[in-house]
Amino acid sequence: MKQIIVAIDGYSSCGKSTIAKQLAQYAGYRYIDTGAMYRAVALQAIRKGILSDGKATDIESILEFTRIDFAIQPDGTQHVTLNGEDVEKHIRTLEVGNAASQIAVIPEVRRFLVAQQQQMGQAGGIVMDGRDIGTVVFPKAELKLFLTASPEVRAERRFKELIEKGEQPVMADVLADVNDRDYRDTHRAESPLRQAEDAIVVDNSSMTREEQMQHIYRIFDEKCK
Ligand code: C5P
Repeated sequence: MKQIIVAIDGYSSCGKSTIAKQLAQYAGYRYIDTGAMYRAVALQAIRKGILSDGKATDIESILEFTRIDFAIQPDGTQHVTLNGEDVEKHIRTLEVGNAASQIAVIPEVRRFLVAQQQQMGQAGGIVMDGRDIGTVVFPKAELKLFLTASPEVRAERRFKELIEKGEQPVMADVLADVNDRDYRDTHRAESPLRQAEDAIVVDNSSMTREEQMQHIYRIFDEKCK
């Protein structure tokens, strides 16, 4: 059977990566979390002290020395690596998530990561999630899904995730963060988050995870027929 490219885009915290991972497992495809790549660049920018007041100075100087990859774990999950260091734990905080959406507006950063993503997916057999996969990275992807859920539902999910990670989030901050990120992701000049014309929209505000996955598996199977 033909190995297709599945592009999954959507707002932050609407379960994109969980869905993409599960679909990749179902299909026997490789999963690429492009958000993790933006987060790794953001972590590097924070470590190098080049982020202040939401602006990055001289980002080109660090990109040259930033190597991002994915290391497959014994349980099959993937951890993002930054210059060979497993930084999976460090990139999943609110601080790095916010910094990621700040550096994601910089054209050099996008060019740097998009080129790597195109190379990773060129042979097909891939499920890639992000904000610009169906519009910029793989505009010809055979299957494009656009995921959405209300900001309140997404903030609640994010809140639970942060608690599970041992953080002590404040609900109002998490909701404000979701709204800020939505605004930045949809209003930036470079590759703003938008639904590709040929994307299938999945609003999962009131779907259980199981319902949603069954719905997505059906769409995938139909596409691969
Ligand atoms: O998906 P995740 O929350 O991990 O992504 C972190 C940030 O990286 C997003 O808020 C978004 O600004 C940026 N991003 C992007 N393009 C992608 C993936 C992520 O701009 N393809």
